Amino acid sequence: MLPVRCFPSWAVFFIILAVFSACEKKQIQRTDFVLGTVCSIRFFKNVPVELFDSVFASLYELDDMLSANKAGNELDAVNKNAGLAPVAVRYELIEVLSRALYFASISRDAEGRAAFDPTIGALVKLWGIGGENQRVPAPDEIGAALALCNWRDVEINQADGTVFLKQKGMRLDLGAIAKGFAADKAAELIRSFGIERAIIDLGGNIAAIGTKPDGGAYRIGIQDPSRERGTYVGFVEVRNKTLVTSGTYERFFEEGGVRYHHILSSETGFPVQNGLLSVTIVGDSSMDADALSTTVFALGWEKGNALLTGIPGTEAIFIFDDGSVRTTSGVTLHQ
Ligand code: ADP
Ligand code: MG
Repeated sequence: MLPVRCFPSWAVFFIILAVFSACEKKQIQRTDFVLGTVCSIRFFKNVPVELFDSVFASLYELDDMLSANKAGNELDAVNKNAGLAPVAVRYELIEVLSRALYFASISRDAEGRAAFDPTIGALVKLWGIGGENQRVPAPDEIGAALALCNWRDVEINQADGTVFLKQKGMRLDLGAIAKGFAADKAAELIRSFGIERAIIDLGGNIAAIGTKPDGGAYRIGIQDPSRERGTYVGFVEVRNKTLVTSGTYERFFEEGGVRYHHILSSETGFPVQNGLLSVTIVGDSSMDADALSTTVFALGWEKGNALLTGIPGTEAIFIFDDGSVRTTSGVTLHQ
């Protein structure tokens, strides 16, 4: 037997501990519940845990700022001061709201009613879809809530950094755009660390940064809206793109054989019924893709498709309730 004892046993213990903790300080993937959904960030090599910490810290911060259901945040203050007074808010909130109002303006009809309307909060609250008090409201309640949805009654004062809702009872809801904004911010942060490839998945709102390590395209599955989560109708191949889906399967309840889902019509006050089960947008800005997935879903196939032809670099996959699938010309759904 060789009596090899280069180090005393306590030193060996500390060396093992040091190696172990060095390993622990790196991670390849992290998943957490934030922004009302399961969010995961995945890299293709181990990265310092601090990177995950800062990306998730940013997601938590944006969740606090952009959620319409957090008492005490700036959005809540804007809603509580509707019809009363302008409220000073952070620049990012104005940035997201301004973009939301842009999508309202491009989705408006002849009467000025917008398919995508960030002032739909009173109606969203009334239905409570996905929450404990979800229910089909009475017609007069829907009428009253609809009267409080009007994107033209939002006043942004850029110089003062304030937002004012003109009618008492009006409520902003940024649920259709917030995750996209958060995905863009996460991507920005990741790139600022010099990292070239990652997959950000904020509850199906995906930002695919760079390419696969071999330079190939990522294959991203498109959920079959009629089957359980993780069953795909096909996949698309993308490099450096974002994919965002809006669908009837995300949040809904069923009553009397009818599915009431969470994308509401600013015209009828009911969940949008137009034969679509989902719309996936493939684009460059996740905030825009998020807003557009909801916008195009709410507009329906014809108007939605027409809107997209005017937005270069943006593609879409439409899935209908008869099982058919249509895509815009610049995207291929592989089987
Ligand atoms: P997800 O939240 O599943 O990503 P969406 O991006 O389509 O889905 O956003 C749906 C959410 O947007 C709803 O839960 C609600 O908060 C809000 N919303 C519902 N209808 C509209 C609408 N017509 N315009 C703008 N926002 C809406
Ligand atoms: Mg959306």
